[in-house]
Amino acid sequence: MKLDLAPEDLAFRDEVAAWVASNLPRDIAAKVHGGLRLEKSDMQRWARILGARGWHGVAWPREFGGPGWTPLQRHLFAEVCALAGAPGIVPFGPVMVAPVLMAFGTPGQQQQHLPGIMSGEVWWSQGYSEPGAGSDLASLKTRAERRGDRYIVNGQKTWTTLGQHGDWMFCLVRTSNEGSPQAGISFLLIDMKSPGVTVRPIITLDGEHTINDVFLDDVDVPVDQRVGDENAGWTCAKFLLGHERTNIADVARTKRELVRLKRIARAEGVWDDARFRDQVALLEVEVVALEMTVLRALGASGRHGARPLDVAGVLKIRGSEIQQRYTELMMLAAGPSALPFVHEAMDAGWQGDAAGLAVHCLPLAGAYFSHRKTSIYGGTNEVQRNIIARQVFGH
Ligand SMILES: Cc1cc2nc3c(=O)[nH]c(=O)nc-3n(C[C@H](O)[C@H](O)[C@H](O)COP(=O)(O)OP(=O)(O)OC[C@H]3O[C@@H](n4cnc5c(N)ncnc54)[C@H](O)[C@@H]3O)c2cc1C
Repeated sequence: MKLDLAPEDLAFRDEVAAWVASNLPRDIAAKVHGGLRLEKSDMQRWARILGARGWHGVAWPREFGGPGWTPLQRHLFAEVCALAGAPGIVPFGPVMVAPVLMAFGTPGQQQQHLPGIMSGEVWWSQGYSEPGAGSDLASLKTRAERRGDRYIVNGQKTWTTLGQHGDWMFCLVRTSNEGSPQAGISFLLIDMKSPGVTVRPIITLDGEHTINDVFLDDVDVPVDQRVGDENAGWTCAKFLLGHERTNIADVARTKRELVRLKRIARAEGVWDDARFRDQVALLEVEVVALEMTVLRALGASGRHGARPLDVAGVLKIRGSEIQQRYTELMMLAAGPSALPFVHEAMDAGWQGDAAGLAVHCLPLAGAYFSHRKTSIYGGTNEVQRNIIARQVFGH
């Protein structure tokens, strides 16, 4: 495997870095580097800036208005953005539903939805999970009943990330009870401003409101907002999950957080402790190994005729474990300063009474709690291990 970047890749990286340096708002970058709370306005401001440049849908082909970058160029773009302190792209629109629309949507659906996703104007949510249907997603019960050219949808979705901001939600619904559970599912696009849609917050361990319950009561959805054939939604669902799991590895963000970990360790004095540095070095080795795996997968998918390496599950497991580990090491580095959980300390410019503790350490407890979720969402790590075992052992 060749590890050096070609001159054209280096030139590409320089061009992107120069653009990011002059377009990424400093107040947003300061929040990201400090591990502070990002508001909807921060995330959407950056999405619009990327959208205006045609870079919000980084993996989109040119025919759909994307930059047509190679997998390696996308990797370099993510790295440059993360190290500069850009917020991660909210994936539900540009990374998840857009490829489904490109692969399975009608030209009308593509024209209606893709421009708003690329421009960052329209916020999407993911309506897959339900109470009682998470790992066993095909047991979902939200029902869409056909009445002429409409569906009437009833049920409940849960864990809907950032659904409080959602304009639209892509949703798996049951349209038939015949045959296997997978065979009766359809993929619907639901306008979240429709009558009968209620979004209720779920507050997580870190005290934040990022996930929600979404209740659907007699929601009227035109049949032309169904993607793919009726009862063929499982194909779209699986296609989308592959994109979600690869995305979760997020090596670029991890590399930025390693820099932050070292900054905290130096400021708090533990960097002088060889045993602490050993722990950081071990993690760094794991990050390099993960990045190599990502690059190998990208290299395989870029080679003409080569079968892409099916490693989405592996990347999801290792990526999420590494993210959890760096939040643990940050807590260790900060020691007593990380112990109090001060919700307001996540706000930019908070000047509260830190009782003599290091203010920059106070957001660490929230981040530690928040990262417990990474091994659950996008398909739990236990279930990913089952899938990998089946692939390897062939059962
Ligand atoms: C922060 C967060 C954000 C999320 N965002 C979204 C979102 O935006 N949209 C959305 O649709 N969903 C979202 N999810 C839901 C997520 O995909 C599910 O939580 C996940 O798939 C697990 O389902 P569950 O919570 O129902 O757990 P369950 O499936 O009930 O699993 C419970 C436990 O049993 C284990 N388990 C289950 N089956 C097996 C098995 N066969 N073998 C071994 N162990 C097993 C699991 O690993 C887990 O530990 C989010 C979840 C979280 C935590």
